[in-house]
Amino acid sequence: MNEYPLAFLCRMKTLLCSEYSDFLECMGQPSVRGIRLNPLKCDEATLKNALDFPMESSPFSPYSYRIPEDADKPGRIPLHHAGAFYSQEPSAASAVTVLNPQPGEKILDLCAAPGGKSTQIAALLAGKGLLWSNEVVRSRAIALLSNLERMGVSNAVVSSCHPETLCETLSGFFDRVLVDAPCSGEGMFRRDAQAVQDWSEEHVRTCAVRQGLILDSAATALRENGILVYSTCTFSPEENEETVYAFLQRHPDFVLEDSGVTFGRPGIGMPQARRVFPMDGGDGHFVAKMRKTSTAICRVAEYPFAKFSAESDAKALYSQIFNEPLPGSLIQSGSAILIVPEFVPRLSGLGVIRAGVMLGEIQKGRIEPAHALFLSALPRQLRQTVHLSSRSPEIHAYLHGEELEVDSALKGYAGVAVDGVITGFGKCSSGKMKNRYPKGLRSHT
Ligand code: SAM
Repeated sequence: MNEYPLAFLCRMKTLLCSEYSDFLECMGQPSVRGIRLNPLKCDEATLKNALDFPMESSPFSPYSYRIPEDADKPGRIPLHHAGAFYSQEPSAASAVTVLNPQPGEKILDLCAAPGGKSTQIAALLAGKGLLWSNEVVRSRAIALLSNLERMGVSNAVVSSCHPETLCETLSGFFDRVLVDAPCSGEGMFRRDAQAVQDWSEEHVRTCAVRQGLILDSAATALRENGILVYSTCTFSPEENEETVYAFLQRHPDFVLEDSGVTFGRPGIGMPQARRVFPMDGGDGHFVAKMRKTSTAICRVAEYPFAKFSAESDAKALYSQIFNEPLPGSLIQSGSAILIVPEFVPRLSGLGVIRAGVMLGEIQKGRIEPAHALFLSALPRQLRQTVHLSSRSPEIHAYLHGEELEVDSALKGYAGVAVDGVITGFGKCSSGKMKNRYPKGLRSHT
């Protein structure tokens, strides 16, 4: 068993009383492993067929599955490159299940990297509405963008902004806000030795102060009747029920609502909230749902759309690749041309890294299509697709960056699909496909 701090064990004994020995036994076992299906790109049968191990349904989300402890690294398989699934311990999906995003809504994920919950929100929005994924640490925000792109999300804005600035500027704008707060990570102890190393009672108290500040900002971003979900992956009551309780004291216009789920168990002295302990089949999570009851005036400025010189070339490129109309408006940001989703507001001053999907980049006077554009597509939307099986040598050659032999009828840009899920693209001529799989993503195994 890992060496856990004595003060942590004493606190858990006080918290759990007669269940403490069950807790200790669970903490001596390996963490649960899981994957979450991405319904934007793949269906359950396709994923099941491609895996060499079984996937078992979990109570935390209809798309989350438990996988065997000894399953070979799922991140290596071609369907992972294609964004068909996300590796995530199943109970980590509980916060978004409580958030319950509805297609067409505007959702803010305020502490979003690396994107487990953002990609789950995007799946539930089903391409309709707006997801704003923010991560204050810029290097982590880049990883967040890469995960959202891999999962084919087209209706997200990714930013790296301080919560206070972001929420003040976008005051009253969102239907739902998720605060998956930085915490002392006690629920991660089984698989993160660093979390164990970093833990102290002082750290727990520091986290609780920071969580209160983030929640105060989040409150501003919500519209009247908007939903605020607060979650952590820690057990300490100071960072969970006490943080929520203190927030409600400071914000009497918020009411605690029942989480509406049956997994896990009620919060401590807070039956509306939900806790998941290792004894409940997860690593360790806390979720609370609140509603804002006060009026919130939204003065968010609209995006100042303007014509740009490459617009008609960009539209022509889109219709050369896709067999359906452009799904949003186009904007130019530096050399990038982006297809932005509905509701996108003025973005300046908010540390925005990406809005919508990159259609392409202007290089030497012409537009080169973007990898993310193809990842956001389904084969039926593309004029040309090369279909490969996940067990074929060709898909591995493609993911290594090699040229492929293709049907000589294919000309120009074509998507590459693995088991029917687009994983990238290439450019075809004379029976060959030049590989456009990005160098930084290529497989080396
Ligand atoms: N929601 C993410 C997911 O599901 O992949 C995990 C989020 S993690 C628990 C908390 C995040 O909050 C971290 O990425 C961390 O960098 C960020 N963070 C740290 N300090 C912060 C602060 N003061 N305000 C907002 N976010 C902060």
